[in-house]
Amino acid sequence: MFPERRMRRLRQNPAVRSLVQECSIAVDKLVLPVFVSDLIEAPSPIRAMPGVFQWPVARVGEFAKESWQKGLKGMMLFGIPRLKDSKGSEASNPDGVVSRAIKEVKDKAPQMLLMADVCLCEYTDHGHCGLLNGYEVDNDATLPELAKAALAYANAGVDVVAPSDMMDGRVEAVRTALDGEGFIHTPVLSYAVKFASAFYGPFREAANSAPQFGDRRSYQMNPANAKEALLEAELDISEGADMLLVKPALPYLDVLRATKEMAPLPVGAYQVSGEYSMIKAAAQAGYLEEARTVLESLLAITRAGADFILTYFALDVLEDVG
Ligand SMILES: [Zn+2]
Repeated sequence: MFPERRMRRLRQNPAVRSLVQECSIAVDKLVLPVFVSDLIEAPSPIRAMPGVFQWPVARVGEFAKESWQKGLKGMMLFGIPRLKDSKGSEASNPDGVVSRAIKEVKDKAPQMLLMADVCLCEYTDHGHCGLLNGYEVDNDATLPELAKAALAYANAGVDVVAPSDMMDGRVEAVRTALDGEGFIHTPVLSYAVKFASAFYGPFREAANSAPQFGDRRSYQMNPANAKEALLEAELDISEGADMLLVKPALPYLDVLRATKEMAPLPVGAYQVSGEYSMIKAAAQAGYLEEARTVLESLLAITRAGADFILTYFALDVLEDVG
């Protein structure tokens, strides 16, 4: 009790402050999401995400190599195909955009921990994450397509597959397909807890993946629900997930913490496009100091329990912290 207990004793200089700091941002815990596109020949800026680019396959290897030299340890690939159809066939095409990008990155930056997002929304002409039956997304018919895509990426040499579609049973479908072809050591990072969030807005431009009708609320989670997240996590663990992801990050720190506490495996968080764009826009308007805001947001996500973080700020952080 005051005056015996003075909290400011451990805040009086940088040395004592860092001595007692409870957590910190580790640069080897950051994963950069990267968009590769078959529609462009040169890196193409994403209007809603200043500083983020779509990359042509021919240039993504070189970008990965430069990023590795700056200290980046992990990347998550998203693809924008030349052709879209109702079944999202390009997702699993062995010569498709992501499969070629995997080979390109592994060629130029072989030590980069390379992850591939597994979903159909970038590849379907209707923009939904699964196959349609009328205006419904058909859960069970989608599973084999997701499994095929994961297998194609494993065949191309990816290190981790990351199903993000939110179909029920997809982790088991992906695991079974991988094991069936001998990819017993390829981990599945499941987007176990993915909310139907307005914070994905800028991603739709980045990945050309806006749904042509309706929205994703029949498969992604209701932002109001935290207990449901625990059941999602439990199911994905029982289906064989090796790591879980919570998405978005900053507006869902309570869910991240609860998931981390219940899950006996690594839990990552995805600081999504809208979280990135908010900070960028406010910084560009002069309302926020960008570097400090970014570091604070990543510290908060780490403090809430994230074992690793997917963030579009990964390279900026390497420059600020590394
Ligand atoms: Zn999707």
